[in-house]
Amino acid sequence: MNLNDVRKRFENCPCGRKHTFDIKEIVSGSGITAETGDILRRNGFGERLLFVADKNTLAAAKGVTESVERAGYKVTYKIYDDLRCAAMREVCAIEGLLSEADGVISVGTGSLHDICRLAAARKNKQLCLFATAPSMDGFASYSAPITDGNFKITYPAKSPEVIIADTKILAAAPAYLKSAGFGDMVGKYVGLIDWQVSHILSGEYYCERVAKLTRDAVDGIISLADRVTAEDEESAAAVFEGLLMTGIGMSLVKNSRPASGTEHILSHFWECKKLLDGKLSDFHGRKVGVATLLILKKYEEFSNYEDVEIIPEEIDWQAVKKAYGALYPEVEKLNNPPVSHEFDHNLIKERWGEIRKIIKSVPSRAEIYGKMKQAGCATGTEEIAVSEELKDEGLKYHPHMRHRLSLLRASFLFREKKR
Ligand SMILES: [Zn+2]
Ligand SMILES: [Zn+2]
Repeated sequence: MNLNDVRKRFENCPCGRKHTFDIKEIVSGSGITAETGDILRRNGFGERLLFVADKNTLAAAKGVTESVERAGYKVTYKIYDDLRCAAMREVCAIEGLLSEADGVISVGTGSLHDICRLAAARKNKQLCLFATAPSMDGFASYSAPITDGNFKITYPAKSPEVIIADTKILAAAPAYLKSAGFGDMVGKYVGLIDWQVSHILSGEYYCERVAKLTRDAVDGIISLADRVTAEDEESAAAVFEGLLMTGIGMSLVKNSRPASGTEHILSHFWECKKLLDGKLSDFHGRKVGVATLLILKKYEEFSNYEDVEIIPEEIDWQAVKKAYGALYPEVEKLNNPPVSHEFDHNLIKERWGEIRKIIKSVPSRAEIYGKMKQAGCATGTEEIAVSEELKDEGLKYHPHMRHRLSLLRASFLFREKKR
């Protein structure tokens, strides 16, 4: 992928911000695993390399250990059995190992990469991501969602300097991981709605060019729905590129707005609540896809309102406290004051016509549902082991988990105005 082209597209952006990203090189191609060591060398990775993987990703990435060893690196291996949860204690463990290393290669996306991204940022070390599945889009993100004491917090981290993707490996990834990547992508439609709504209500920074980058990437992946799970290098490469682009979108604005909206928060709510019960949850992209369909259903209902009236905000904080249980102290901090205190609620009514247009600018829920079915995604909470009760609790309380304005959070402040 030619990163200079991307850089050029974002020079002198009308939004007024200088868009930069730190990725030096992205290498994607068929059978390039054997070049890994050389790619690290030419990007200036120091002699002592920390190699982080789990047994699944290591088995998928055949030849990668030989490649880094052949290039002469002194390698320390940290191989997990099956790392499904990016926990703060693991970030600390990687930080400890990084004291004796010059850089780190994360073989595997998802949780492995999340812990490496935060640890490498804290220790100021170079980071390479070796992607093994097109399962999510955090490749180029600057933030890492980490679980600390059951609460999931998105920490500022770093994006990798180098990203390597062997399309042979991506194509051979299990179908459920590819479907998960697709589920993560459809969430961007909600994210783009939320970002624009927050921009017009609270004046939050918004960049149309970055939003378009995300939008194009999602539309591109949607058009591949029927090929997503095939073991086909060309479509695996195309999906990977789409995921990468939304990741770059986040890098360009240094926040996750272009790629995640309230559907991600809902998914995090489910995940945290399950962790409180000592249960692991389904893959990120599977949950995000299901959450997207639930949120789009609500947003479509809103878009049918010809007019709205503003209502006083009445949040039953005792009920919120009960819903969050042990997580509530964090939630309380995030809502002191709540995000709804930061804008004039009458704006919702004044700008309602624009808000309706924004909702209608994305494909319908029915269309997205059909594409998700083609792509083998989970589409109902029963498929991701989220009970009816947890689903409803999530829909009601998840927005308090972040200090962030979304259309769903704003919906606590209006109702349909009946003629
Ligand atoms: Zn811009
Ligand atoms: Zn995601």
